Amino acid sequence: MTSLPTTPSAKKLGLVIDLDTCVGCHACAVACKQWNEGGQFGPLPDENPYGRDPLGVWFNRVHTYESNSAQGHATVHFPRSCLHCEEPECVTVCPTGASYKRAEDGIVLIDANKCIGCKLCSWACPYGAREYSEVLGVMQKCTLCVDRIYNESFDVEDRSPACVQACPTGARHFGDLGDPHSDVSKLVAKRDGFDLMPELGYKPVNKYLPPRERKNCTGATGAKASLDDSVDPNALPPLLRWVDKVLSR
Ligand code: SF4
Ligand code: SF4
Repeated sequence: MTSLPTTPSAKKLGLVIDLDTCVGCHACAVACKQWNEGGQFGPLPDENPYGRDPLGVWFNRVHTYESNSAQGHATVHFPRSCLHCEEPECVTVCPTGASYKRAEDGIVLIDANKCIGCKLCSWACPYGAREYSEVLGVMQKCTLCVDRIYNESFDVEDRSPACVQACPTGARHFGDLGDPHSDVSKLVAKRDGFDLMPELGYKPVNKYLPPRERKNCTGATGAKASLDDSVDPNALPPLLRWVDKVLSR
């Protein structure tokens, strides 16, 4: 089995995903697939891509749900990828050391040269974030674009994950969630960002920002007047409970 870093750095790189502004366009998923087709962590194989049952490896998938709650009907687009958990059992169950968490920034990666394709890690991940390649015989997953974010041949503003660069609505944010003064940490605090299924104890680094209330059919709006206003937490639990229930299936 594989150990987690004994002296992890305070740095926790991750994503903040805004469920309020995601429009489900899949640009993030496609940009991710495109970037990771080659390089250190590619390829991301497709199987039978034009057939009746196309399969393949995607590091990022966007699911769309219809929700009914006391606040009314809503469509929620839910991007899903590795959350780079602080206590990831996907790492500790790995018998070969192929799955590992980096001490310097908390990114969880897979060394394809050590992976024997036993799939234990995918059983240990409650978020469905690991993707097994039948073509390559190894497990694959989001790398947080580790080959972009430290790439000094890129302009500084381009050193962020491909999904963040591609999102047309600015629904995806990248940064250090271990630094309480970072932009992403401030955004999480301001918007009541939350962990997915915190009761499992994996301590995901990635955070989600909840949808705001929508206008009702009479034209009145329950939404706050500006982005600077905070969301009423009393209005949130039913939807968040629903998201939790869907992901737990
Ligand atoms: Fe591991 Fe899943 Fe957490 Fe990613 S989301 S670190 S694959 S347990
Ligand atoms: Fe949502 Fe942005 Fe991904 Fe489009 S690119 S699905 S808006 S997160």
